Amino acid sequence: MGYQFLSNDTIYKDVGKINDDIYQFTYLTIDWLRHGFTTRAGGVSGGCCESMNLQMKLQDTPENVRENLRRLAVIAGVQEDSIARLQQVHGNCVVRVDSSWADSPSADAMITNRPDIMLMTLHADCMPVFLADTRNHAIGLCHSGWRGTLAGVAEKMLLAMMDDFGTQPQDVVACIGPSIGPCCFEVGEDVAEQFRDVDVLPVTMSPNGRPMLDLWQAVAKMFAGYGVTVDVAGECTCCQPQYFSHRRQGTERGTMAAFMRIVAE
Ligand SMILES: [Zn+2]
Repeated sequence: MGYQFLSNDTIYKDVGKINDDIYQFTYLTIDWLRHGFTTRAGGVSGGCCESMNLQMKLQDTPENVRENLRRLAVIAGVQEDSIARLQQVHGNCVVRVDSSWADSPSADAMITNRPDIMLMTLHADCMPVFLADTRNHAIGLCHSGWRGTLAGVAEKMLLAMMDDFGTQPQDVVACIGPSIGPCCFEVGEDVAEQFRDVDVLPVTMSPNGRPMLDLWQAVAKMFAGYGVTVDVAGECTCCQPQYFSHRRQGTERGTMAAFMRIVAE
């Protein structure tokens, strides 16, 4: 992958695994949790959305998306009306979920300590960040592209868990899921400059002199600063064809889902 890991012993590279077309982290494969990140496989959609598209869009039919969602709910072991989702806006708003809802609030992060509510975020290159408080059995899930990363959405999610659930960072595992990697995330100088203003680390230059952004490292370093255990999938959605990618496919593509829920005792 060409990914440079920090010399901090709280950051791990997890090879993870794909079971039933779902990417899962070893560190989150624990008895009180169900989680995963979907790939392109396992659904019924055709064309550019082939096959596991989880977002309503012009290039797919509502029936296909509903069937794909039904399959995902079966994999996660929940009723479809237990899925909490957001109107994602590339911001840093965190929502606490205490019951499922009909309307999706405008936000990019959710936290809960209630069993059997499934948190779900949608992705096609933007980072999914999973948080699990292994002591208090609380969880968080967010959608963090470059705008959300600059706005600190993943950090705000951790702080919200500390405030609401008494979460201690040393009890937390943070997992950064499949998303566009430093191998492919070429950005404009204007975007690179905003990251350099915060920290020069996540920006490198490609051989042809273009800025390359490493969002994995930006978020991993932030969490490591709190003493959180960090795990990076290291799976690039842009150059690995088993994933949908906005950078590779533009709007002619499906959308994947990150999901996580607490299992009732
Ligand atoms: Zn790549």
